Amino acid sequence: MTTWEDLAKRIFTDVQHTPEQYEELYPVRGLPEGARVTRLAPSPTGFLHLGVFFAAMINRMTADASQGLFYFRLEDTDRKREVAGGEEDLLRGLRLNGIAIDEGLTAPGETSGDYGPYRQSERAVIYHTYVKRLMEQGLAYPCFCSEEQRQADRDQQEREKQRTGYYGPYARCRDLTPEEALRRIEAGESFVVRLRSPGSEERRIRFDDMIRGTIEMPENDEDIVLLKSDGIPTYHFAHAVDDHLMRTTHVIRGEEWVSSVPKHLQLFRVLGFKPPKYAHISPIMKAEGESRRKLSKRKDPEAAMRYYAEQGYPADSVLEYLMTIASSEFEDWRRRNPDAPRKEFPFNLKKMSVSGALFDMDKFRDVSKTVISRMDAATVARSVMDWAQTYDPAFYALLARDPAYAEAIFSIDRGGKKPRKDIACWSEAKEYAAYFYDELFQPSLDGLPDGLTDEDVRGVLEAYSAVYSPAHDQQEWFAAIKALCPALGFCPEVKEYKQNPQGWKGHAGDVSTLLRLAVTGRRNTPDLCAIMRLLGTERTRQRLAQAAQSL
Ligand code: GLU
Repeated sequence: MTTWEDLAKRIFTDVQHTPEQYEELYPVRGLPEGARVTRLAPSPTGFLHLGVFFAAMINRMTADASQGLFYFRLEDTDRKREVAGGEEDLLRGLRLNGIAIDEGLTAPGETSGDYGPYRQSERAVIYHTYVKRLMEQGLAYPCFCSEEQRQADRDQQEREKQRTGYYGPYARCRDLTPEEALRRIEAGESFVVRLRSPGSEERRIRFDDMIRGTIEMPENDEDIVLLKSDGIPTYHFAHAVDDHLMRTTHVIRGEEWVSSVPKHLQLFRVLGFKPPKYAHISPIMKAEGESRRKLSKRKDPEAAMRYYAEQGYPADSVLEYLMTIASSEFEDWRRRNPDAPRKEFPFNLKKMSVSGALFDMDKFRDVSKTVISRMDAATVARSVMDWAQTYDPAFYALLARDPAYAEAIFSIDRGGKKPRKDIACWSEAKEYAAYFYDELFQPSLDGLPDGLTDEDVRGVLEAYSAVYSPAHDQQEWFAAIKALCPALGFCPEVKEYKQNPQGWKGHAGDVSTLLRLAVTGRRNTPDLCAIMRLLGTERTRQRLAQAAQSL
């Protein structure tokens, strides 16, 4: 007579170890009490989604807040969805955007840690070991149902308004004897391996989701697939085996997995594993008119982390912004601790929003402007150059011609209590810095103060050109402008001008606006005195003259 043990032995010829040996090989981690072990377990689909990145950040923060550990495992069991280079894309994307990985696949071509292999495709024999044990215990069995049979059953379930799934009378292979199963395997029939679920729909389970609170659901009674016909595990089974053996304490993942928790808890139970704590993150939403929808890979470029790199948003901006949507307490904390590293934020999963955070592009850009405004000039110049080297080689060539000059551009008005917030990303730097480069400068006198004739303007430009001195500091610079005013018919003091606007052509502020336009082509710029000094006397005079001629 064939027993389940015989059958298991016949099927899993690759298995050399026992589950007990794996327990010893992957012991409970020697981390301090309370340290959380978290992980990111993405599939290599060739695309780092903002939502996956968000999950990575939450996992990272959760580990950091407990002196724990964050590792990376690749869930590469779905060959159909796999994309060449997908693994590198994910790892590069995480690194580029400031998420460090402690263990597992840590960077393209790098692995570390004693709990591997960290690619599911390299773990087949481990999964087989545990399925073999379940089969020996009569808790797993081969199923020979064809896809057509399964589809016909699903159709019938739908017609009869029943739950779809492999349970009850639809679990057609559940009662096959080991002999019968062995005979069909020997005859070369293809099969999957299913769990013999000990659950019942009538009973309910409860579990505490760290974000969503207590959740109650019916027990799982489906004989779910553990191994597909090629011997590769399903997500459910691999999750249980891997998160147990890799000693994950907290499984923090997308909300779409909440409904699978009954299956997962059952798997942990039949396998004799202690279940992890679960936290299910709500998806990042986007407002569309009055309604909200999930951020879509197809419709929203900002759904891909690639977008931020291409536009040149600093990694820090993305992380700062995502923290504001991960925790409603982050902004307050940031106000109180403007210079503290994010790691120090007391992140708490329990305070995350259940309803799904909204990605607000305006707010994000605002956060990014603040982040950039707090960087020093050297960092800004280097980052702009790094970005331009890949995405705007012509601009890079200009910057690289004189890196010190580039740095000086970005140092104007930087520092101080209220730094300017001109740019949100590096791709905006070219427009911002354009007038510092003759190649990019676009002369324009659009927006001159009202009521001035060409003669008035020319008069100002010529008079100023004659007195300009690069030796002036900001006060002297403005004093020189004021000193010119009376002779040109402008009032040196704005207050005085306002009492009698008819008596003047304008005031000192109008004169500087006019000079600003002539030198930069813009009405709004950082400190004009510093701009002129950086451009140099010759170029400043040249632009003043050029503007006068253009009238
Ligand atoms: N591979 C699964 C996914 O990409 C992982 C979910 C999890 O974190 O367990 O959705």
